[in-house]
Amino acid sequence: YTGKTGSELLTEKIKKFKVHEFLQVPVVVKDSVSVYDAISTMFLEDVGTLFVVDDNSCLTGVLSRKDLLRASIGQQNLSAVPVHIIMTRMPNIAVCRKDDLLIDAAQKLITRQIDGLPVVKEIDAGLEVVGRVTKTTMTKALVELTIGDHV
Ligand code: ADP
Repeated sequence: YTGKTGSELLTEKIKKFKVHEFLQVPVVVKDSVSVYDAISTMFLEDVGTLFVVDDNSCLTGVLSRKDLLRASIGQQNLSAVPVHIIMTRMPNIAVCRKDDLLIDAAQKLITRQIDGLPVVKEIDAGLEVVGRVTKTTMTKALVELTIGDHV
C-alpha cells in the first residue's frame, strides 16, 4: 500500500501522458491555396482545424471552421481568395511539442479558447508541423485513464 490518495494516483497517471503518445496526423495546406480549396480539404480530411505551411513546410497559420465560414459570408468567388489573407498567423499561434505533458497542451486549449494545437519541431527554416492535438485527443486521454480499471 502506497499511502497515496485516489486523487494523487490519478494526478500521477495524468502526468505520465505525453503529447507524443496521443498526437494525431496533422492536416496541412499551403498558404497559397484558396479558401475554396481549404474548405474542400476540411471536408475530405474530416478535421476541424487546418494548419497552414509555407514552401519549407513550416507553420505560418491556422484555419478554423469559423475562419472559413466568416470568409465565405458575402464572398462570391472563394477560389480567388488565398487562405493567407484570412488565417490566424504566426507568431500568434499556440503550439506544443512532442515531449510536452498532455495536460499542459490541454491547459493551452482552455486558456486560448481553441479546438486544437499543432505539434511542432524546430528546424532551421522555422517550426515544422509533425502532429496535432485537439479536444478529441483529450477525450481519448480521459477514457484511457479508465482502461485496466474495472468500471
Ligand atoms: P472555431 O473558430 O471554428 O470555433 P477555434 O475555437 O479552434 O475554432 O478557433 C478560434 C480562433 O482561434 C480562430 O480564428 C482560429 O484561427 C484561431 N486558432 C485556432 N487554433 C489556434 C492556435 N493553435 N493558435 C492560435 N490561434 C488559433
